[in-house]
Amino acid sequence: MAEAAFTVYNRSMVLMQCGQCGVEFCIPQRLNEEHREAKTTWYCPNGHPRVYARSLRDTISSLQKDLSQAVAARDELEAKLRRAQNGVCPECRRHFKNLNRHMQHKHPKTVLT
Ligand SMILES: [Zn+2]
Ligand SMILES: [Zn+2]
Repeated sequence: MAEAAFTVYNRSMVLMQCGQCGVEFCIPQRLNEEHREAKTTWYCPNGHPRVYARSLRDTISSLQKDLSQAVAARDELEAKLRRAQNGVCPECRRHFKNLNRHMQHKHPKTVLT
């Protein structure tokens, strides 16, 4: 998005152009900085959403967080699967010969349909 800063009546304003419809509009410099900091969305006069792209560092740290959550979830699922393969109930960790029947009767909510 093209930006130009200027001052009017002693106020710092930013002139910008919507990348979608091309309309030119002004917002206060302070508001522009807030949006840039917080990555919040605002709208051009024609209602097109505008947002500052997150910095690479922000993007990477949020991806790393997602990844470690995914790894933790996978580890938990693998542990459950390993228990199930050994005939151990993944929910209450007791051992059963007929794990299928135990799951259907005791943990019907956790059985995938
Ligand atoms: Zn627009
Ligand atoms: Zn059980």
